[in-house]
Amino acid sequence: MEKHWIGGKYVRGAKGDLFTTVSPAHDTTIGNYALGSEQDVHTAVQSARTAFDSGPWPHMSGQERAQVLCATADLIHIHCEELARLETLESGKPITQAKAEMETAADLWRYAATLARHTVGEAYNSLGENKLGLVLREPAGVAGLITPWNFPLLIISQKLPFALAVGCTAVIKPSELTPGTTLKLAALAHEAGVPPGVINVVTGFGNPVGACIAEHEDIDVISFTGSTAVGRRVAAAAGRNLKRCSLELGGKNPHIIFADADLDAALDPVVFGVYFNMGECCNSGSRLLLQESIAEEFTARVLELARTVPVGDPLAEDTKVGAIINEPQLAKINEYVQSGKDLGARLRTGGRQIPTLNGRFFEPTVFDGVTPQMPIAKEEIFGPVLSILTFRTLDEAIQIANDTIYGLSAGLWTSNVDTAFEVSRRVRAGTIWINCFMEGHAELPFGGYRDSGLGRELGRFSTDEFTELKTVQLHIGEQRSSWL
Ligand code: NAD
Repeated sequence: MEKHWIGGKYVRGAKGDLFTTVSPAHDTTIGNYALGSEQDVHTAVQSARTAFDSGPWPHMSGQERAQVLCATADLIHIHCEELARLETLESGKPITQAKAEMETAADLWRYAATLARHTVGEAYNSLGENKLGLVLREPAGVAGLITPWNFPLLIISQKLPFALAVGCTAVIKPSELTPGTTLKLAALAHEAGVPPGVINVVTGFGNPVGACIAEHEDIDVISFTGSTAVGRRVAAAAGRNLKRCSLELGGKNPHIIFADADLDAALDPVVFGVYFNMGECCNSGSRLLLQESIAEEFTARVLELARTVPVGDPLAEDTKVGAIINEPQLAKINEYVQSGKDLGARLRTGGRQIPTLNGRFFEPTVFDGVTPQMPIAKEEIFGPVLSILTFRTLDEAIQIANDTIYGLSAGLWTSNVDTAFEVSRRVRAGTIWINCFMEGHAELPFGGYRDSGLGRELGRFSTDEFTELKTVQLHIGEQRSSWL
């Protein structure tokens, strides 16, 4: 690719330097990309600014914008195979999963199209005789969108079509590990009718590209998905010039199984919940909380199933767990496994890298005997590692569930409706799944409490992030002021 996407076309970086992406599963080079500089960000912001301040996009009707968003969805669908293959090669995720994600991404564009036609405010006809108050929603301006490597096309599709729906323009920085599909998306959206300058993509590293976007004076809102540590830096940078900032960050999500649950039904979602996307998933159900009376039996069943999970070449259709993204992430997983062993948790299965000629693969791993204070119980590992804890009472389950800095999501299994709702109310997390796990719908808001983030994506409130409210007050008929 070797170029950024700015002003409706591929353009070379100002410095001309390149970087490469490497397949985590095959150790082969996948792409050469422009190594973005501050100058490239300024050029992209200028392009987005001009498209917002004097281009047609913010002034088009919702119906016209919706048509373009739907046409982009159609093109994602048409190019699904090609996009999925590129995403698998850059991220290491299984190809069947990648294909499903491309279709889900297309659906997000279609859902955002419905919101383009429902950008509504309020009217107050109750302010007194001759008075009318209008509350209008206007596009916020230029949006800076920064995304991670674990779900590249899906996560940009949780942001970009929603920003576009209300008339914003955008400067995007995909992860340096997986920029390919985001660049292709920009070209597809252009083909679908997004005017030049409305979407701009600068490839490169957090420093300087991400940092420059976060603090740029001419960007109006920031939407960031990534780690909590970088999210704090982005929020601080955005705060310096009082830009609005929404953050989707990490998680250490509890999956709670009560003794009265349908254990047969819970088993597969528990194993899926932790090993999906190699555990490199903000929503990973990486803490399994089992009620004591069923802990031994259910642990045995989890172990049996975990040992059957197919790990291997992500291009193979039957693979469920592909490759770990890179060496630093693998080292982090190994360190957590070592810390679990050192602190007295029992390693029941897995715990090692799988020896292969190429790439980095890690065995689906289960620890039990984990106590709430251990790092493997509290911290995001971002790998295929399950930590099993036990509890006696509902209060104890909730106490353990809330005992991390995070609050992204939580799952619970019970046949008692009182238990289900009490846990749902008392667990501090943005999403609660009752008798299911990690389901998602475009209609339902997604985001975190506490250190898992700020703001919400998806759902009908998602476009609020990308709009400003304007109050318009109107006097009707004869005006009689009496101040003097
Ligand atoms: P990361 O924070 O390292 O990087 C995310 C993005 O920020 C990348 O594009 C990166 O280049 C950029 N970046 C790095 N330094 C920056 C800086 N100083 N200023 C601006 N941008 C900078 O995260 P990652 O390793 O790519 O992704 C994994 C993390 O993302 C995990 O913690 C995971 O939980 C989180 N995540 C959260 C969600 C969610 O919706 N809550 C979804 C997916 C991933």
